[in-house]
Amino acid sequence: MINNTDIIYIIYRKVKVKTMNEKTKGELLKEQLFFKTKNGFETLSEEDVEKAYDFSEGYKKYMDNSKTEREAAAETTKILQANGFKPYKFGEAYKAGDGVYINNRGKYILAARIGSKSIDNGTSIIAAHIDSPRIDLKQRPLYEDSGFAFFKTHYYGGIKKYQWLAMPLALHGVIIKADGDSVSINIGEDANDPVFCITDLLPHLAKDQYAKNLGEAISGEGLNILIGSRQFKDDKASEKVKLHILNLLNEKYGIIESDFISAELSLVPSEKSRDIGFDRSMVGAYGHDDRVCAYPPLMALIETKTPEHTAILVLVDKEEIGSEGNTSMKSHIFRDFMEDMAKMQESCSTAMFMNSMCLSADVNAAFDPNYAEVYESKNSAFINNGVVMTKYTGSRGKSGSSDANAEFVGYVRKLFDDNGVLWQTSELGKVDQGGGGTVAAFIANHNIDVIDLGVPILSMHAPFEVASKIDIYMMYKASKAFYG
Ligand code: MN
Ligand code: MN
Repeated sequence: MINNTDIIYIIYRKVKVKTMNEKTKGELLKEQLFFKTKNGFETLSEEDVEKAYDFSEGYKKYMDNSKTEREAAAETTKILQANGFKPYKFGEAYKAGDGVYINNRGKYILAARIGSKSIDNGTSIIAAHIDSPRIDLKQRPLYEDSGFAFFKTHYYGGIKKYQWLAMPLALHGVIIKADGDSVSINIGEDANDPVFCITDLLPHLAKDQYAKNLGEAISGEGLNILIGSRQFKDDKASEKVKLHILNLLNEKYGIIESDFISAELSLVPSEKSRDIGFDRSMVGAYGHDDRVCAYPPLMALIETKTPEHTAILVLVDKEEIGSEGNTSMKSHIFRDFMEDMAKMQESCSTAMFMNSMCLSADVNAAFDPNYAEVYESKNSAFINNGVVMTKYTGSRGKSGSSDANAEFVGYVRKLFDDNGVLWQTSELGKVDQGGGGTVAAFIANHNIDVIDLGVPILSMHAPFEVASKIDIYMMYKASKAFYG
């Protein structure tokens, strides 16, 4: 039974709800005019979030097989080959849709999918680096002290030294023996392998150490790797722990002490990539910087079958120590490769460079509320808000930066909007706080349009860095859109 009062009340409720849902003129105008970055969990469909979670499974596998630039180059080569990419032959003409690659000295990958348009119309390049901060062995590393055997080290890239103490480390690399034979080393990844570590001082005796500042509390020469303590059974010989270790290495790998001179051996965290959080929304791994910007475009390149513009992926070494040398972004191999492709198409290489576009794909710092004071929150990147576009890097007056031109930024943001790529912009911290650079400038110098684009991460350069699954997936979507 319903009476008049009830009917009036129902009408009243409906009108009230309607007015409550209607936006005011100001609210509507704000939506239209203000720029607001969006969190992926608010804007993406459940299905897309699921896709992002799935994508990170392949990424974690790639990461676990790619802890050094050599391993990343080998793993990338394996994936390229499995997907029909062939070694590039200089002086050979390729047709649209062909996939080719160069593995330069086992540390630097150049891969391309030939486009349907002549190459003087320009190429679409994505460049990332596959080296990460770590601890390298010195050329004469092995010594014995007070009943222990150790390796002397020289760290690689910008590390906070204290982060590498008292944690399990794995040894990766290669040794070239006196006879030229090569031995690959990978110890500490298998659950049954031994691991290595750098010891830390107990707090009970750390009074003087506590008084030092963070940068000086641990010295570079103090990063010695503990590798053994068992003595070789002999009554007369000295340095019996060192002797025992060398004997073991000789039996297993056939090496002698001088072989370390022609070796590249690195200590990296032995931990595997892991999901982070009850909700598994993030991935923790060693070396997100910058392999989190290498794997997504690699997947995109494989799936791009016949792009209009030749699609190119560049994965370089030595970014963390200044991009010098023949496996770095400054290596002439990049230009040689590009010019050879132009020549074989009887195309103008100057026009090719001038019309080419590049995403310099590198990570950026995600806003960390635990260290809010170093960020300028209005120009910071946030976890889960998508790939981060960085018009200029550098520090203290944009020094050393390749500042992308507004026209190119305009092109990229429209491309992302048209293709459902969640994106944001940022600077690396406060203007005078510090800063950093990427390979962008070295590519731009070839007269190519370049912008920095990458995944925002927490704990950059730490042995265990954090990235969001949505952002990793958006790096893949951005790469797909860019390759076209
Ligand atoms: Mn980087
Ligand atoms: Mn870095």
